[in-house]
Amino acid sequence: ALTSNNLDAFWMPFTANRQFKKNPRLFVGAEGMYYKTADGRDVLDGTAGLWCCNAGHARPRITEAVQRQIAELDYAPAFQMGHPHAFELAARLSALMPSPLDHVFFTNSGSESVETALKMAIAYHRVRGDGARTRLIGRERGYHGVNFGGISVGGIVSNRKMFGTLLGGVDHLPHTHDLSRNAYSRGQPESGAEYAEELIRLIQLHDASTIAAVIVEPVAGSTGVLIPPKGYLKRLREICDQHGILLIFDEVITGFGRLGSPFAVEHFDVTPDLVTTAKGITNGVIPMGAVFCSRDVHEAFMTGPEHLIEFFHGYTYSGHPVACAAALGTLDTYEEEGLLTRAAELDGYWADALHSLRGTRHVIDIRNIGLIGAIELEPIAGEPTKRAFNAFLKAYEAGVLIRTTGDIIALSPPLIIETAQIDQLVDTIKTVLESLD
Ligand code: PMP
Repeated sequence: ALTSNNLDAFWMPFTANRQFKKNPRLFVGAEGMYYKTADGRDVLDGTAGLWCCNAGHARPRITEAVQRQIAELDYAPAFQMGHPHAFELAARLSALMPSPLDHVFFTNSGSESVETALKMAIAYHRVRGDGARTRLIGRERGYHGVNFGGISVGGIVSNRKMFGTLLGGVDHLPHTHDLSRNAYSRGQPESGAEYAEELIRLIQLHDASTIAAVIVEPVAGSTGVLIPPKGYLKRLREICDQHGILLIFDEVITGFGRLGSPFAVEHFDVTPDLVTTAKGITNGVIPMGAVFCSRDVHEAFMTGPEHLIEFFHGYTYSGHPVACAAALGTLDTYEEEGLLTRAAELDGYWADALHSLRGTRHVIDIRNIGLIGAIELEPIAGEPTKRAFNAFLKAYEAGVLIRTTGDIIALSPPLIIETAQIDQLVDTIKTVLESLD
């Protein structure tokens, strides 16, 4: 039987994270804002699981929808058949996006959404006779999942170093994070939009006629909550438009209410050609992702006599009936409880609470946008990540789940969080940081 003492025998079920192996911590239940630990404690969820449980845990609409669907239709073969809930879900999702992005393709994860979007972008140009447009541009410190395309356009060098060059023809824009210019910004930093101009340099270097798409997270989440400077995303859009390059937003984290609107597209008032999503689409309950694309992109690969030879794509579990049911129950919950805009209502309280940590021991920057927060710590010399990881352990012991990446504490609580729970989260972090070496 699986116990904390013999986990070694079962090692590798989740991720390659060795910190788990050294110090296993097991959750055995969850409800609302809290996880229940194997040793019977309640832990406040400061991370919505892994940026996914936006409506909190064990939400009845979702649980019931899943149970009903399994009993009614457990699976329908994706390549030959369909089922009505996938269409219903696609229609409801597209109603949340601005009108050009009204087509939806279902995947099973964020990583798969990214691969799908990259393939769609290249196929779009190819079908239009622009077959030379195959280059892709990501961003330093971007995270786009773990598959080959995603680690190629992703900006985390250590994630791809074992695999050589991967996709040919990939470049990375610089990230926009510069503490000497924009530490302690509330919301979006004022300066830094000119980082987008680096795209012009890449266009001059390679010629626009070779570039298929630029992919960015509107807010880079997993690499430490890097919030784009004002005007940056709009400028990327302008440059892409001028040169016939598609723009992809990876909204796996920012989608489904995290920034106070259904998607970051609305928050930043920038409409890309493709949007990748996952996580909050089913509140984390069943694996699922979706790619939104414009009619133009969709028509390029779905219509015309050649579409089958130009573009083959689809997963056994694309639009899985149980995932669709979970997503529909999730949308019901978000809509009934006003969760897709709740982060906008809490934004001021959240920002004040986080920024009250300014001056706390070890803190060198605080960032906030929607219901996302980051507290950057001074690293221990020669031991990067250690201080933040120790903060994570102590916070967990004190009953609060936070997430760390490098020496950055990243926060993304479920959107149902109450102000008293925001206080609990921030007060615990303060106590923990003051007690750390
Ligand atoms: N893109 C972004 C922006 C993400 O944050 C993540 C996951 N953290 C992914 C892609 C990959 O998603 P998944 O882990 O579901 O494959």
